[in-house]
Order: sequence, then structure tokens, then C-alpha cells
Amino acid sequence: MKRSGLVWLIVLIGIAGLVAGAYVFRGELATRLVERVAARGLQQSLAAQLPDGLHAVFCGTGSPLPDRSRAGPCLAVIAGGQLLVFDAGEGAAETLSLMGVNPGDINVVFLSHLHSDHFDGLAPLALQHWATGAAEAPLRLVGPTGTARLAAGLNEAYAIDAGYRTAHHGPEVMPPAGAGLSAEEFAVPAGADAIVLRDEGGVRVIAFPVQHAPAEAVGFRIEYAGRSIVVSGDTARSDSLARHARGADLLVHEALSPRLNAIVQRSAVESGRANVGAILHDILDYHTSPEEAGAVAQEAGVGALALTHLLPQTPIPGLAATFERDARTTFGGPVWAMRDGDVISLPRGGGLRRSHHLRF
Ligand SMILES: [Zn+2]
Ligand SMILES: [Zn+2]
Repeated sequence: MKRSGLVWLIVLIGIAGLVAGAYVFRGELATRLVERVAARGLQQSLAAQLPDGLHAVFCGTGSPLPDRSRAGPCLAVIAGGQLLVFDAGEGAAETLSLMGVNPGDINVVFLSHLHSDHFDGLAPLALQHWATGAAEAPLRLVGPTGTARLAAGLNEAYAIDAGYRTAHHGPEVMPPAGAGLSAEEFAVPAGADAIVLRDEGGVRVIAFPVQHAPAEAVGFRIEYAGRSIVVSGDTARSDSLARHARGADLLVHEALSPRLNAIVQRSAVESGRANVGAILHDILDYHTSPEEAGAVAQEAGVGALALTHLLPQTPIPGLAATFERDARTTFGGPVWAMRDGDVISLPRGGGLRRSHHLRF
């Protein structure tokens, strides 16, 4: 064997030895990284990294249909030292934590309507609010008619768990008064087209009716420092939404792709899942297509359009891009199909910046 061949053989044996060693000791190596990862997770605060302004934090861009990459509907807004959460679908609390947002810092959770995909992450969020903040008062929940009944039911369901946790950790770590949710209901008065839900520290939140019957549903407009975000909630194409979105910097709109939905519906029927097929047919009349969302954005003259609550689910890379393409046929501004972990920042004074903050 030539000398250079021998050197290569020794190098290869060395590399193989290192790889084998790393494999055998992988558990030990991972354990040594835990301290660094845990410290980073506990010390990093998303809010501390953002400039003064209005920030849309996408803590759940999914729908009721199963998708491991998307939590249920959730949008957090950071502005003026406040943390407001709009809807809390399944996985919202986990996604917020993985983005460096401490649920203990939440001021209020607003519900757009009482479909379960918009609130089935509430109980974990209330637990995290209590546990991570040693909260002395329950998590504030503001929603349409029925919100008090929902909160009372969840509080009752989690009462045994709350008792165990206070008993185990003590009342200083888990103050009994901080468990669960406190509810406030609102209704847009007859004859009015909106209601102010919050006006504090320069942050203003209004709610206005949208079209999602039989659910009583609203969208939201959030304003701070001359910047504005409008959130559709769940709705069919809505004139009320277009009116309230006028001139907003960012419109966060739900989207259902009729073309993709038809494909999934057909395959459900062909697989003998007639009930799934019927549900996929029925949802068409109370959601908005990407083309319609684009038309609303165009009519309202918003600065940018962020699509969320994507229906059906998008398990194949590139599929979400079809939502953007369809919305661009009707809207001339920037369009993005959002992912969990994305943040759109509207700094005081102008501009728009997108970033991504999912840590794991
Ligand atoms: Zn809904
Ligand atoms: Zn929904």
C-alpha cells in the first residue's frame, strides 16, 4: 500500500472511531448540553429583543385539522409592555414558551368566538400563567356571550389538579387565588358596529362582528404608537372586517383553500369517511378563500397580509405557498402564509420586519 493510502486509512479509522464514540456516549453528551439549553430557554425573553412598537407573535397558525407543525389558532400581541393573546388553541401555551414568551406575563386573553379550536389551549395557558408567574389572580379572559360558562367549566374541571399543586408546592409557589380563569363577557351593542375592549397604556383593542354563524364571532383591531393590526378571527368574507381594516399596517386573516379542501373532501368520501366529507363541505360557507382575503386586504388598503388558520392542513412542504399565490391574484401588497414561531414587527415610527423565534 502506498504511503498516502495508509494515511487515508488511518484518518478514516479515526473518524469512524469518533463517530462510534459520539454514538455510544450520545446520552452523556446531550445531558451536558441540557444546562445550556435550559438556561437559554429560561433567560431569553422575546419582548426584550423587540424594539418599541406593535408586534404580532404567531403562536398557533393551524386549525382543528391535525398538523404536528402548527398549534391551534393563537396570536399574541406585544406592545407598550403589555402581552395580549387573541385565541388560545391547542398547543398555544407550549408554542409561546418555545418562542421565549412567558405565559406568566399575559395581561388578557381575548376570544374571537367559542369554537373549541380557539379555546382548547386555554387550560394549559392558565396553568402556565399561574405556575410561571406565581399569579395572585386568575388569568383574565375576555370573550363573547358564553365565555363565563366556559371559564366556570374549565375551572371546575381543573379544580382537583389545582388543589394538588398548591398542596404539593405550597401556597407561596402556587397561590390558590391565582389558579384558573376569570371571565368577562362583551357584546357589540345593537346599532353600534364595534366595541372598545381595552384602552390602556396607549394600547387600544376594539372588537367588531364578523360572519361565522351560528357562532357569535368578532374580529379585532389593535392600535399602538400609530401602528395597527387587524385580526379576522374566523369569518366568511366580511364587509365589516374590510371596513375596520381600513389603512391597517397588517391584516392577519384566516384562509381556507377551496381547491385543496375539495381534494381532501373527495379522498375522504372515496375512503368511506362520509362524515368527514360532509364536514369539509359544510365549512366552506363560513371561512374565507385566499383570493377573498386578498380582496379584503386590497379593499381596505392594508400594508401587508398574513394568512393563518390555514385550512386544510399543509403537511407537504410548499403547500402553504399556494395560499400566498392565490391571495396575490387579488392583493398587490406583501402576502405571507405564516408559520408557528413567526413574528411581524411594526416598530414605532414605521417599517415592518419579519423574524422567526421557535427555538426547538
Ligand atoms: Zn370557528
Ligand atoms: Zn377556527
